[in-house]
Amino acid sequence: MPDIRPTAASAALLLNATYEPLCVVSVRRAAILILSGKAVCVADGDGMLHSSRARVPVPLVAKLTRYVRVPYRTQVGLSRRAIFARDGGRCVYCQGPAETIDHVHPRSKGGPHAWENVVAACARCNHHKGDKTLADLGWRLPVKPTVPHGAIWRVLGHRTPDPRWAQWLETV
Ligand SMILES: [Zn+2]
Repeated sequence: MPDIRPTAASAALLLNATYEPLCVVSVRRAAILILSGKAVCVADGDGMLHSSRARVPVPLVAKLTRYVRVPYRTQVGLSRRAIFARDGGRCVYCQGPAETIDHVHPRSKGGPHAWENVVAACARCNHHKGDKTLADLGWRLPVKPTVPHGAIWRVLGHRTPDPRWAQWLETV
């Protein structure tokens, strides 16, 4: 394994051979895939990686040379970041900036911590809602919360995408 030291800690977007986003990996991992011929660099980031034998540009986006089958149903992890991403960073009740996670059917009343029962909310709506149900308040959800699907979630569920990855994420 090459001895690679990144000049700046950062991450690379890894694409399948079909250009479908697969996941986010460290630049070191991406460089090892490239140097071993398992991936090709699609876009360079900033700086160079130094190994004992070679200098390679820091990969920003890498693409696998061989197609990897992805399990058909990949459950997207239920994280605050992923919930905010699904709901567009807005409070589902008032459309203000989201600050917290609300359980639509309150947990104290048996509401599950599941994609179908969590939404992004602002602190004000969350506080106002408290332990009440939507029926108690006469509130309605504009959209029924669902489990997100699609390749982009393998990336969005984990971290904020590097803005320079945008063109590869838009195609999903
Ligand atoms: Zn709100």
